[in-house]
Amino acid sequence: MPAYERITYRITIDTERCNGCNNCTTACPVNAELMKKKNFDPDERVIAIKNGVAVVINPFRCDGDGICMIVCPEDCITIEFIPLSEYQDAEQEKTEV
Ligand code: SF4
Ligand code: SF4
Repeated sequence: MPAYERITYRITIDTERCNGCNNCTTACPVNAELMKKKNFDPDERVIAIKNGVAVVINPFRCDGDGICMIVCPEDCITIEFIPLSEYQDAEQEKTEV
């Protein structure tokens, strides 16, 4: 990976194990900052509870601090540090399936 390449984070949540406790979404500092905005859009959040489980909504806002992992009682969140170009390639492949 070239030294100048931007790094991003791929958050994966094992929804089979997630109990929907909301710890991760409420502890996420990026979510907290977004919720202070006057015209807060819930779909801007990094992670949120949908249909009773935590899901990743806006991964590009994640700063990779790992707080969500720490507060998760089910240990079902993983965060990978990856080059942005690889992330975009992977997302593109997913949408083409
Ligand atoms: S790693 Fe940090 S910014 Fe990213 S979803 Fe978890 S708590 Fe939020
Ligand atoms: S903290 Fe873990 S168990 Fe709780 S909602 Fe988030 S991912 Fe699910």
